[in-house]
Formats: sequence, structure tokens, C-alpha cells
Amino acid sequence: MAKTFALIGNPNSGKTTLFNQITGSNQHVGNFPGVTVEKKEGSMKKHEDMIVVDLPGIYSLSPYSAEEVVTRDFLIKEKPDCVIDILDATNIERNLYLTLQLIELGIPMVVALNLMDEVRASGNSIDVQKLSQDLGIPVIPISASKNEGIDELLQKAIAVAMQKIPPQKMDFCTGEVHRAIHSIAHLIEDHAQNIGVSTRFAATKLVEGDDLMIRELQINENEKDILGHVVDEMEQALQTDREAALADMRYQYIDHICRDAVSRKGETKEHLRSVQIDRILTHQIFSIPIFIGIMALIFWLSFNVIGGFLSDLLAYGIDGLTLLLDDLLSVYGINPWVHALIIEGVCSGVGTVLSFLPLIVVMFFFLSLLEDSGYMARVAFVMDKLLRKFGLTGRSFVPMLIGFGCSVPAIMATRTLASEKDRKMTILLIPFMSCSAKLPIYALFTAAFFESHQALVMVGLYLIGILMGILVGFLFKHSLFKGNPVPFVMELPSYRLPALKSVLIHMWEKAWGFVVRAFTVILGATVILWILQSLDFRLNVVTASADSILATIGAWIAPLFAPLGFGSWEAVTALITGFTAKEAVVSSFAVLTGADAASLGAALSQIFSPLAAFAFLVFTLLYTPCVAAISAVRHELGSIWKAIAVMAFQTGVAWVVAFLIYQIGSWFFL
Ligand code: GDP
Ligand code: MG
Repeated sequence: MAKTFALIGNPNSGKTTLFNQITGSNQHVGNFPGVTVEKKEGSMKKHEDMIVVDLPGIYSLSPYSAEEVVTRDFLIKEKPDCVIDILDATNIERNLYLTLQLIELGIPMVVALNLMDEVRASGNSIDVQKLSQDLGIPVIPISASKNEGIDELLQKAIAVAMQKIPPQKMDFCTGEVHRAIHSIAHLIEDHAQNIGVSTRFAATKLVEGDDLMIRELQINENEKDILGHVVDEMEQALQTDREAALADMRYQYIDHICRDAVSRKGETKEHLRSVQIDRILTHQIFSIPIFIGIMALIFWLSFNVIGGFLSDLLAYGIDGLTLLLDDLLSVYGINPWVHALIIEGVCSGVGTVLSFLPLIVVMFFFLSLLEDSGYMARVAFVMDKLLRKFGLTGRSFVPMLIGFGCSVPAIMATRTLASEKDRKMTILLIPFMSCSAKLPIYALFTAAFFESHQALVMVGLYLIGILMGILVGFLFKHSLFKGNPVPFVMELPSYRLPALKSVLIHMWEKAWGFVVRAFTVILGATVILWILQSLDFRLNVVTASADSILATIGAWIAPLFAPLGFGSWEAVTALITGFTAKEAVVSSFAVLTGADAASLGAALSQIFSPLAAFAFLVFTLLYTPCVAAISAVRHELGSIWKAIAVMAFQTGVAWVVAFLIYQIGSWFFL
């Protein structure tokens, strides 16, 4: 008899650690249907027919964020056989808030009281028996990272699911709130039954003023009137608004439970240590420099030291394999054109992208250390005030920062954001952070045209990118993405040593996703580009690159770029090839002009005036992200059309800015 278990808890309560312990390697990642929220599923190690679904970390069941809606929909529509609610026992008051809401759903449920090792070590204690009585559901103390109590937890959960034992208690309310919930429960009982939701949950949500629930229950005008009166009366009697009234009600009961079951002699060792560490890491003045220092260190380690070294090694290996394949194909005597396609197109295209893999893996290793240790929550907290002005939350900061290295991991890192709106907005802004693949272009052009002001031009480019990001952020905040970012929960988790297993699994997931992309989207794109670059319209193999389909198309498009100062087919073709990878702009110029490294600068000054060169640089800074980034956008936003819209938007912005720079510049320099 197969059963489904939903694993639910606050962020940083140990959900991932528990999920990994329960499922081992029997897990796979996908998306929830219709949204880009990650869905992890796996079967229990010793019970193959018991499926566990890891739901997003949330603080409540109010539909503020995509994650909360996803969790709610899953619980109501998929009807799991049992909910496993994981609590951070060192922070039990805040964690119980979600528990009380989950209980109202009436689904068979057990509580996994995690981090009991820390509670014990601090000399505090929790009376599990009493807690279980007060909540009306089984409570099992565990320590996910130490693998303690997990067998008992699973046995209990399976028993509860098999016997379909619902929570024994649902009534946590008293006084006015009690009256309101119960009178509304009578009113809407039939509606709730129709859509298969527990009456109690529906009634509570209606008292809370949850629009989504009002729509789903199909409450008619008449009933809405009655609902309004009941709520008005409650608000007047209590002198608070409806949401506060319900929050109060829940916290009162939580207070009661904790007085009953929790004995607190002192703070946990980890908490005390965290307070000490936070004196420095969230210090008013030092917090941001320290954070920049840590990120610089991670960048340096992943791009220059470890990742860079491994990338070079891998590139070396790929080169070796390519040579071997080259020889084999020659010996086999394959058609020379197919030969060139495989070696020059596929191997060099996919190979270049694959050589980024170590970089991404190393980067994600460090990032998951920051995330799981609890440091990321602090960064978000510190940056929140500043970024809120641009309609973002503090959590957007890290992905944007990674964007200076490479947009692909940056876009992948937006998964840590709490709401879908914040995620979309961040994804749109990441391409404005100049990625490191554009550096070779900047280096080439600044050396050729702005020799005495090289650093100044480079810094200027980075700043233009950031400024455009801020501007576009403002624009979106007041148009496309109205409304405030998800409110921030101020309570920070204690610093903890991350579990190596979780970090490794996380790295593996990222690496695998990247490899899959390299062999699908990127493979396809490089093949197409290579064909366009090596054939003319009559499908003859070209000898001079100026005759290829790509160059011809470049020449057609070139007039569009004349107002920007670089309406030559070489420039346009280089930009088009830059779509595969930004470094390709440089190699294309070399191929198209037939110049070598030493004479390339001189060759470029035949094509560009200094002003046009600057406009070209700004255009490359801002125009469409490369195909790998676009495919990451497609993956995260869930639709190819949205990815195309991002491309078009970026290119439009680039055109306008480069146009302004060239035209206004012309007044001064001509
Ligand atoms: P999630 O955000 O809910 O997925 O939480 P994680 O599984 O990432 O855990 C957050 C942090 O708590 C990690 O650093 C874990 O290693 C740590 N952790 C999880 N469970 C335990 C536990 O039982 N005891 C201790 N001491 N640490 C734990
Ligand atoms: Mg997690």
C-alpha cells in the first residue's frame, strides 16, 4: 500500500538534512506543476513504496509567497497520507506557529522535533509527552544530522498514515475568535466539503481574510455579507484587525504549550555562540565590508584558485579528447564537413561550456556552506533595507553578486529566494551585472582604443551596468512587479556546522543540471551557429567567412547599428556569435578580420572610431545574455517565451543606451 508523506517545516529547521537521511540516494528533483518552485521526491530507504515529498521551507500557510501557495495546494489537492512537520526545537515558539496551522487541515500528522542534541547539550528540556498531548498529534524527538530517532519517526509516521489517524485536537481558540471561527464554520461547511478542505481550516482562513480561499470556496454575496459582519464584530470586540487577532490566538496557545512542556534553564550553546559571532558579522559598520571580503575570497577561490585550476585541467582533458577524436575521424575517413562540424562546432562549443563546470561546482560548494551555516540569512538581513528601495529583498543580493562572475550560477542561485516575484525580478536584473566572460572583450577594446584610461573605462562599464540595474529595478517596482517584497522574518537561526552530505548532494544536483544543459540546449545552439558560419545560402562550404550565411545576415542587420556607430558586418557578426558565449566576440573578430593577436587592435581601429568602440562596449555590456544564461532563465522561469522576452528586453535596453552614448558623444567629439 503506497503512501505519500509531505515533509514541511520552517527554513533552516533541518528539512533537507532529514530528507537526505530518509531517502538516501533514492531522490529526484523536479518542479511543481505550473510554477518554478523546486519539488524533491524520494522513497524511504527501507520502504520503497513510501514516498516522501520535500516541500519548500515556509513560516505560515498564508498565501504571501509562491512557496506557501505551492505547499497549501499540495496539501489540499494532492492530499498526502501524512504530514511530517519538522520543528527546530531550539526555536520552538516560532516553529509551532506553522504547526498549529497545519493541524487545522485535519490531515494525519506527526511532529519531528529536530535539533534535540542542541537542546540536551544546553541543559534545557522538552517534555515530549506533554507536547504531544497539547497538540493532539504524536511528537518524536530526533536529531537529523546525528541520525537519531529517525527510525522511530518513520515507524510512527507510517502507522499514522496506515491507520489514517487525524489530529485529536483542532480547537485552539478562545473567546471572540472562537465564536467567529465556529459561526463561520457552520456557514461554509458545505462549501468546504465540496472542494474537500477541512471546514476548520477554511473557516480560519476566511476569518483571516484570505482572498484565495474566498475564491476557492465560491462564497456568494449573501454569505460574504454575513462573513463581513462576523469579522467586524470580532475586530470591534478585540480592538485589533483580523490577521492580528488570529496570530494572537495562535501565540496564546503556543505560550500555553511552552509553559506546559518546555523547561528553559539557559540559552543553547549554539545560540550564545551565534550572538557572539553576530556582534562582528552583523556589526553596523563592519558587516558589509566583511561580507564583501568573504564573497571576494569565494570568487578568488572559485575563479582563480581551485575552480580556475580544475577548469584549466578539464579544458586540457577536453582538448586531448578532441585531438584523439580528430585522429579517429580522420582514420575513419569521415566526410570532411561532418568532421569539421564535430570538431570545430560541437567539441569546441560544448567543450568550452563544459570547462566551466568545475567553477560552478566549487562556487556552489562555498555557497551551500554559507547557506546551511546560517550566514546567508544574516546577509539578507543586513542588505534588506537597501535593496527594498529597488523592490528587492536582501536575499536577492547574493545571486546578483554571483552575476559578476557568471550569470548561469547566479540565475540558478535565485532558487533560494522566498517568493516567485522576487525571483523573477532578480533574474531580470542579473544580466546587468557584467559577467567575467565579457572581460576579454573589455581588455581587447580598452587596450586598442583607451590605452591611457583602461582602468577608468572598465570601472565605468561596471558602473553603467549597476546603474542600469538600479534604474530598471525602480521601473519594474512601479509597474510589472508592484507590491512589496515578502516580509522578512527577523529571527535568525543559530550558526551551525553544515552537514557535508547535504552540501555534496546540493553540488551534485547543480553539476548534473549543468551537464544536461550543455548536452541539450548548448549543443543544439552551437551546431546551428557553426552551420550558419560555414555555409553560404546555396549551402556551399565557404572559404572566406564574409560569404557565410551568418556574415550575410550580419550585413543585413548592420544598418540597424549604424546609429550606434558600428554598422559593419564584422561587428554585427561578432555580436551574434557572442550569443553562444561572450568570449566568442573576441575570437570572431580574429577570424573575421584575419588578424592575429598582435595586429587585432590595429585591425579594429579600421572598423571603429574610439566613440563607436565605447558604444560597442556598452552594447556588449548590456545586450542579450549568452545562450547558457538564457537557457538557465528558461529553466527557472519555466517558459521559452519568457526567456525570449528577457533577451529582447536586454537587447532593447542595450540599443537605446548605446544609441544615446554615441549620439550625445558625437556632439562633443566630432
Ligand atoms: P533546511 O533549511 O530546513 O533544509 O535545513 P538544513 O537541513 O539545511 O539544516 C540547517 C542546518 O542545521 C545545517 O547546517 C544542518 O547541518 C544543521 N542541522 C540539521 N539537523 C541538525 C541536528 O539534528 N543537529 C544539529 N546540531 N544540527 C542540525
Ligand atoms: Mg534546505
